[in-house]
Amino acid sequence: MAKKRIVIDAGHGNQDPGAIGTTGKKEKDFNLTMAIKLDALLKGNPNLQVNLTRRTDVFLELKERVSVANKMPADLFISIHANAASSSANGTETFYNRTTSAPLAGVLQRHMLAATGFKDRGARYGNFAVIRDTKMDAVLLEVGFISNPEEEKKLFEDDFQNRVALAVAQGICEYLGVPFDVQAPTLPGQEPVKVTPYPEMSVTVHTAAGSTYTGYNVKGTTWVPSRPIGELIGGRIGYTKGKVTINGEAVETMNIDGVGYVTARDLTKLLDARIFWDKTIPSRVEIYPKN
Ligand SMILES: [Zn+2]
Repeated sequence: MAKKRIVIDAGHGNQDPGAIGTTGKKEKDFNLTMAIKLDALLKGNPNLQVNLTRRTDVFLELKERVSVANKMPADLFISIHANAASSSANGTETFYNRTTSAPLAGVLQRHMLAATGFKDRGARYGNFAVIRDTKMDAVLLEVGFISNPEEEKKLFEDDFQNRVALAVAQGICEYLGVPFDVQAPTLPGQEPVKVTPYPEMSVTVHTAAGSTYTGYNVKGTTWVPSRPIGELIGGRIGYTKGKVTINGEAVETMNIDGVGYVTARDLTKLLDARIFWDKTIPSRVEIYPKN
């Protein structure tokens, strides 16, 4: 059997935070974490090929999200969101646009609801571009309300996220008629989906605002988070075709916990900064901007 192709779309990103919770938490971050957890649960399944529209905090236009899925073409499109309205609004809901997507919405709503324990707002029609303009079965999940203080708190709890991701993963497999086959390391109560397999490096950036970041030492090469450091030292950080761009130049990129990392060497070279590795403390790196 040919692999079923699934596109998981974490809503919003970068300059578009989506809804903002009562404590200031951002919907874009919830969406991305959930997409990464879902990917981790599905990617080992031999019957599935899973693709994410974004794996880092980057912005994509709605039509770009649609075209990722249509070009493939995917068999299934799942967009992940958190809802917002008044602080008392609450519950889980799933939107479909075409009636042919309604059965998928029904299955995922049922699974999600069991995991969230929130009010059932149903599987409903919604006129959203990502589920309207995609050509395959497509749904938009509103896991809960980030504008509701109680639901916001839950939405950002690791256990809750793992449970919902597991439920959605099982729902997808049920709908596609493929066995749910967990080869990924995550089940509720076990380790969260966090990939930090490399020794940490302390990266200090010497600006007036001065800041220290966590980098990673991967086989002797220092990798640093591209956006915070790049922007702090005056660079333009972008993203294209799976790679971070620094002042427009695409560089080797690694995604760690959903963040785009680049090598400290590429970053400092392209931004004309100086870099020093501390010989006495090998886990320390110092970056000095040009001026
Ligand atoms: Zn949203």
